[in-house]
Amino acid sequence: MKVLRVDHIGIAVNNIEEVKKLYSDILGLKHLGSETVAEQKVTTAFFPVGDTEIELLESTAPDGPIGKFIEAKGPGVQHVAFRVENIEEALAELKAKGVRLIDEKPRRGAGGAKIAFLHPKATFGVLVELSERE
Ligand code: ZN
Repeated sequence: MKVLRVDHIGIAVNNIEEVKKLYSDILGLKHLGSETVAEQKVTTAFFPVGDTEIELLESTAPDGPIGKFIEAKGPGVQHVAFRVENIEEALAELKAKGVRLIDEKPRRGAGGAKIAFLHPKATFGVLVELSERE
């Protein structure tokens, strides 16, 4: 598999509008847009930084993955996403190497990317996302 770069860092927040002030007004990053991914019960907002992006994640329901994360750990860094060249190939290789996966097959993430999560127990406590975009 080929990891191209850190695609984005996902940060769980209680309120995107509130946190946006830090990233936009104070740090001066451009807000690329927001998107709700209904299946994941999350609204995301992207802020490009050079080659990578900050992704703010606000839960749309308490029982969604971000809602549960915040309840357990509080707001903060939730996942690191690596951009890969070919996500199907990467998942097959990781599976063959015995790495525990949350998603055996890619699903649709924000911005039309193909994404899949590795199990945090297999990645020393860091939730790792793979992402492939055209
Ligand atoms: Zn992500």
